[in-house]
Amino acid sequence: MTTEFADRLRAVRDRIHAAEQRFQRPPGAVRLLAVSKTQPVTAVAAMAAAGQTGFGENYVQEALDKMTELAALALEWHFIGPIQANKTRPIAERFAWVHSVDRLKLAERLSAQRPASLPPLNVCLQVNIDREPTKHGLDPAEVSAIAAAVAVLPRLRLRGLMAIPAPAADFAAQRPAFARLRTLQDQLTAAGLALDTLSMGMSDDLEAAIAEGATLVRVGTALFGPRR
Ligand SMILES: *Cc1c(COP(=O)(O)O)cnc(C)c1O
Repeated sequence: MTTEFADRLRAVRDRIHAAEQRFQRPPGAVRLLAVSKTQPVTAVAAMAAAGQTGFGENYVQEALDKMTELAALALEWHFIGPIQANKTRPIAERFAWVHSVDRLKLAERLSAQRPASLPPLNVCLQVNIDREPTKHGLDPAEVSAIAAAVAVLPRLRLRGLMAIPAPAADFAAQRPAFARLRTLQDQLTAAGLALDTLSMGMSDDLEAAIAEGATLVRVGTALFGPRR
């Protein structure tokens, strides 16, 4: 089992490196976050043994259970799922990153609840880049105002933007949504925010995301196989 995880990890890293080269991104410009939601703790342990350190989780209780079981390993946990207002405290206390902040109120709670003993919580704002009615995320038009307000919260460090575009058939069709997120990020940077993270790209579209400037790809299925 360990070999199988090491093989999949190598294959995904190879895809990332190939895309970096093909699209003139500096080597190592794109970080891999392993999305382990619904996967057993044994799978996370196997992926960690293969050399992966950053893991993304969508459900608070499931993530806390894995953190407790794997406390002996130096792993970095990222919360990437929808945030319920009554679950912000464990997120503020136990995670290093949150990619799915999509309301100012949630950011304020996370900042207030981030323990003083820990470094600031790294956050990305989630953008509903295709303006899909059923999707989480900020409307693109509200991003700059919310980003300015989040950037001054004392216990958060605003790192950039995150999006999950609507599924698209192929590489060419996948690129425009990622390009729009990149443009939004460039506008925030031009307005004076120091951002370094563009969290975009998953198992089926990471090449298109890297072509458009992703600095972090969130990959589940290609690493762990189908979710249960
Ligand atoms: C599940 C999930 C992923 C991983 O998706 P795959 O297609 O399995 O790679 C990435 N980002 C978020 C926010 C997710 O919920």
